[in-house]
Amino acid sequence: MRQFVAIFGPPGVGKGTQAKIAAEKLGMTHVDMGNIIRGYMRDNHALGVKAREFVSHGRLVPSEIVEEMLFDYLETDYVISRVLLDGFPRSLVQAQSIEKYLDGRGEALSVVINLTASVETLVSRLSGRRLCRACGAVYHMEFNRPPEDGSCASCGKFELYQRDDDKPDTVRTRLETYNSETAPLIDYFGGQGVIRDVDGQRDIDTVSADIARIIQESGPKDA
Ligand SMILES: [Zn+2]
Repeated sequence: MRQFVAIFGPPGVGKGTQAKIAAEKLGMTHVDMGNIIRGYMRDNHALGVKAREFVSHGRLVPSEIVEEMLFDYLETDYVISRVLLDGFPRSLVQAQSIEKYLDGRGEALSVVINLTASVETLVSRLSGRRLCRACGAVYHMEFNRPPEDGSCASCGKFELYQRDDDKPDTVRTRLETYNSETAPLIDYFGGQGVIRDVDGQRDIDTVSADIARIIQESGPKDA
C-alpha cells in the first residue's frame, strides 16, 4: 500500500522548496502537478495534446484533464511507495476525485500538510524579489541582495526589475485568491482530521524537519 501526502501553501511560503526537500529526504515521489502537465504536453501524450489547446489560448487546463493526467501518472513506474502531491487537489471536486481514486485501491491520503505564514511575511518575502532581465538570476532585497551598484552578480548587466506579480498590491490579491480557493479544502480535510498546520515562517531546516516528522508519523508503521 502506498502512502499519499498532500501539501498546501500560499505563494511565497516556500512550498515548492519544502516539497522537494521532503521528497529527497524521505525517498518520496514528488508529484508536482505543474511539471506533470508540462511533461504530458512535451511528450505529445494524448492528454497533453488536449491540454495544449487550452494553454495556447491562455486558458487554464480544465480540471477533468488535470485529474486524468494525475491518475494516469500515478499508475506509472515513476511512482514509488510514498507520494507527495504538490499542486493537487486545488478544489473540493479534485479532493473528492483523488479520494475516490485512492479508495478504489484501498488507499487514502494519510496527511495533508498546510504550510502557513502571515500576510505581512508573505508580502515582504515576495515584494523583495528582483529578477535580472538579461540572465534570469533571482535576488531578494533582504535575503539575497544584488551587488550594491544595482548590477547583476551573474552577468554584470544593469537590468534588475520587479515582476508585476510581486508588487505588494498584486501579492495581496494573489494571497486573497489563494485563501478563497484553499479555505474550503482546509475545512474539508480538517473535518476528516488529516490536516497538520506547519508554521512556514521559520528557517528552511526547521520547517523541513517538522514536515519530515509529520510525514513519517502518519505513514504505515512498517518498522
Ligand atoms: Zn543577470
